[in-house]
Parts: sequence; C-alpha cells; structure tokens
Amino acid sequence: MRAAVLTEINTPLQILDLEQELPRAGEVRVRVKAAGVCMSDWHIMNGDWPLPLPMVLGHEAAGVVAEIGPGVTAVKPGDHVIFSFRPHCGRCRYCSSGQTVLCIGHNDSPRWRMHDGTSRVKLNGEPVNQMARLGTFADEVVCPAEQVVPIRPDLPFTHAAIIGCSVATGIGAVIRHARVPAGSSVLIIGCGGVGLNIVQGARLAGANPIIACDLRDNKLAYARSFGATHTINASSGDVVAGVRELTDGLGVDTAFDAIGSEATALQAVDAAAPGGRAVLVGIPAFSTRAPISPSQIVYGEKLISGTYYGSVRPNIDFPILADLDLQKKIDLDALISRTYRFDEINEGFRLMLAGEVARGVIVFD
Ligand SMILES: [Zn+2]
Ligand SMILES: [Zn+2]
Repeated sequence: MRAAVLTEINTPLQILDLEQELPRAGEVRVRVKAAGVCMSDWHIMNGDWPLPLPMVLGHEAAGVVAEIGPGVTAVKPGDHVIFSFRPHCGRCRYCSSGQTVLCIGHNDSPRWRMHDGTSRVKLNGEPVNQMARLGTFADEVVCPAEQVVPIRPDLPFTHAAIIGCSVATGIGAVIRHARVPAGSSVLIIGCGGVGLNIVQGARLAGANPIIACDLRDNKLAYARSFGATHTINASSGDVVAGVRELTDGLGVDTAFDAIGSEATALQAVDAAAPGGRAVLVGIPAFSTRAPISPSQIVYGEKLISGTYYGSVRPNIDFPILADLDLQKKIDLDALISRTYRFDEINEGFRLMLAGEVARGVIVFD
C-alpha cells in the first residue's frame, strides 16, 4: 500500500510503498476514499507535538471496510465508515459515562501503535507509526475496529471525511460541549477548518450575534457565508474592544478560541462577558502557556473550559452530523474549497498554511 510518511520534522511528506499486515483480532482494514488536510498533522510535521517518527500521518478520513479481523461484529466488509481519532474501549469510567473522548482504556499502549503495542505498517521490515492509531494518508489503513463508525452510504466520502475531525470538533464544541442557547452571543477566534464549523454550529444553535475574528479577509468572508453576523479583522483592530462595542460593552456569552495560542486564549477570556465562558478548542503546542488574570475570573464569575474533539461521542454524533448535512442544516459542501490527488498532499499543506482554503480534502481513486 502507499502512504504519506513523515520521516523527519520540517521535511515534506514522502509517499512511499509500505508493507501492511492483515488485521488482527478486533481490527479492521479500510480502503481510504477521502482524507482531510488538518492543522493537527502540521503540528507533528513542524515539531509542535514531538512524536516518534517515522509516522504515517492523517486522521480525518472516511472509507470502505475491506476486511475484518477475528471477533469484529460492529462493521462488515462494504460498510462506509468515518475514522475516529480517539479510541473507545467501552469499559473505562469515561466511556461508561459518555465522555468517550477521554477514554483511558488503552493508555498502556502508545497512541501511534495498535493496542498490542505493534504497528501494522512496515518499511523495509521496520515498524512505521500510525498517527492516532490510524494514519489515513494512505490507500488503506489497518486500525482498531472501535475507531471506525459506520455511516449512511449516501453521504459523499469527502463530507464523511471532514466529519471525522474539523466538523465534529467545531460543531461539537458548540452543541455538545458549550450547549450554546438560542439568542446568546458568541465569538469565534480563528476561521480555519475548525473555526468555520464553530460558526456554523453557532448558527445551528440560533446564537446571535455571531462574531467571527481572523487575520485574513478571505477567511472572514467564508465566516459570513457560514453564518457570522459580524466580523473583526484582528490584524487591524483590537479584538476585545471590537467585541465589547458590538455587545453593549459587556462581551459575549461564549468566546471560542479555535487557534490555541497564548494571545488567542487570553482574548477569549477577556472577551467573555461577566458570567460568560471562554471555551478553548484549538490544540496548542505542548509548550504554550497563557497568563490569565485570576481576579478577572473571580470578579467576573467567568468559566474557562476545554473541549477535545468537540466532546463528541462518535458513534452517536457522526451519524447525526451526516443527517444534518444531507438535510442541508449544515453546509459541508461549501467547506470543501479544494480537493487534491494523493500526490498533491504537500501542496495541500502549503495552501492550508497560506490561508487559501476553508478545507482541503485528498480524494483517493
Ligand atoms: Zn484534525
Ligand atoms: Zn474507554
């Protein structure tokens, strides 16, 4: 099989021919049909998240089950599936309470290996790691069956792919994590793949106003098309002052940071109204620290919370997101502003970093 491998940080991905083993007990082999290009892959490529290499990257994807290992009953060959980048053991305290994103059932094996500690992918006989136990920048993936969610077959694979990360993370942050009430005010900092989905999640929830902020005017134009009522270009204006001006001097009920930097986390806290909430969504570099003002939190009774993967329960929420898309209550078609062939993958990262796409998706033959 062919896969895009990162062998060294700050070098392009290399599409290599790799040896793939058959699925073992509890695993499946999936033919990948579409895979999104995500900032999380880039965090590994640039060393923000120092992880062991070589690694097949890619985690936002969809495909068709080709083969199941012994004991797999939840899916069968031919099923269309969305990959989930978090495991779901079904037994730990978090899976049992519905917080499956926090599953600790497989904490004894590294997140880039199968549950038995081995990899299903090899290069010249040496194991290659699989990002999030997946590695979906590949023709085919062998992974734990608990990390694929069967999905209705009339959903286009490109739409299914982005549900697996950016759509779940953005819309989930609004409707599963923050549970934004209709009519309440919202700020979204950063209008990339996740931020634009927070915007459309806020629209779905009936929030008003929906204030979007970014450094680039083309991203703000995207945000307006997905439901933002107001926009602020952070390169030319003070975000917090601009938000207060639009909200009678108070700030917003819920401020989402879709970036994950020191500056944007602080903006989210500062732009939240008294009694309001800052929600941290974008995953920072491991080294990032942000000096919050505890007195502002106390006097303003502000809440700061984090959400990982939109706090979704993939087996429940991926099919719901698919229905919302096919009912045109959310718009995934307009999010996919570019598609690429597999061999154009490095161009996909270049355009994402240049801010020229809402979401780019690689389509496999
Ligand atoms: Zn992602
Ligand atoms: Zn678990």
